[in-house]
Amino acid sequence: MKRRSLGNAMLNGKCPRCREGNIFPVAMMSYLKLTDVHQKCAHCEAVLTPEPDFFYGAMYISYAFSVALVINILIVLNYVFDDPEISVYVITVVVANFLLLPLMLRYSKVLYLYWVGKLKYDPEKASIKN
Ligand SMILES: [Zn+2]
Repeated sequence: MKRRSLGNAMLNGKCPRCREGNIFPVAMMSYLKLTDVHQKCAHCEAVLTPEPDFFYGAMYISYAFSVALVINILIVLNYVFDDPEISVYVITVVVANFLLLPLMLRYSKVLYLYWVGKLKYDPEKASIKN
């Protein structure tokens, strides 16, 4: 029985209980189905959406990702590119936010599900279909 690490499971968007089934129906970087989350894990049948609107709390994490992205872009542009025009800041922030939108949305949900979802890792569940 192979054991998947917590970091690897979170990075790949895997179910918190079995770390095998996918949380999302599409790849982490896909722009398709941005808001979709599986109701149940296809591998262990853990409930991934415990209640309606469960993932509203993930908006706070997503917001923190966006703020961190903006601050990092401002620092890099200011110091590395020697304080360019304000339009360069705006365009860079908008483009970077658009490019990283799927990752920020999905990883905010992954963090929220692992943090608040009350699903503990169970190695027995990981080996059901192996
Ligand atoms: Zn599972």
